[in-house]
Amino acid sequence: MSSFEVQRKRLIEALISAGYLKNSKVIRALLSVPRELFVPEELREYAYVDSPLPIGYKQTISAVHMVAIMTEELDPEPGDIVLEVGTGSGYQAAVLAEIVARQDPMHRGHVYTIERIPELAEFAKRNLAKAGYIDHVTVLVGDGTLGYPEKAPFNKIIVTAAAPTVPPPLIEQLAENGRLVIPVGDLYMQRLLIVERRGGKLYKKWGIECVFVPLIGEYGWKYTIS
Ligand code: SAM
Repeated sequence: MSSFEVQRKRLIEALISAGYLKNSKVIRALLSVPRELFVPEELREYAYVDSPLPIGYKQTISAVHMVAIMTEELDPEPGDIVLEVGTGSGYQAAVLAEIVARQDPMHRGHVYTIERIPELAEFAKRNLAKAGYIDHVTVLVGDGTLGYPEKAPFNKIIVTAAAPTVPPPLIEQLAENGRLVIPVGDLYMQRLLIVERRGGKLYKKWGIECVFVPLIGEYGWKYTIS
């Protein structure tokens, strides 16, 4: 085992002991995806410190426990078609691709991920290619608050930036029996909101408190804090 694999295993075991991780599909995915390939080269030694790390352009790769919690709340299944808003480094997209495509015997699942900063979308594409996930992930540049109507409806939608409210296009693009996970709140503190569509109705439940960088766009915030 490489030193990174040892560190990865140790961190995931700690997250299981702390009660953050229970879902075996999510545990397998987090054990499989090499997070060290999704952080800037000069920060690789910190890849398995459980904290957000800068990836440039005032953006971050989320802490591993936050990726664990959000992925558990999303509950992706092999074969799902997923939309992620906020590609960043591509790490969360790789974790989702591991479950929906790699854990599916027919590799049917796919992840569409949208990033508003073109340079980060390129960074994510390079990282996903290095880690071997690029065939299962389509990286798009644009305003993810509008969703991606071309490939809707989605079984699962995850937003990894802080929204003032749930963007209506994302609700419209959620499939029957689909689930959406999104941090909603002000610019300084949010709470995860989980929305499910069942029998044509929407069911909402609040999760843990969290702090994300802002979701900027037509149905997001209109400015950044410096
Ligand atoms: N999921 C990422 C990862 O695994 O590295 C971390 C996401 S980072 C916390 C939030 C990202 O959302 C930033 O890269 C930011 O540029 C992006 N973002 C903010 N508003 C957006 C929008 N309207 N559409 C797409 N991406 C957006």
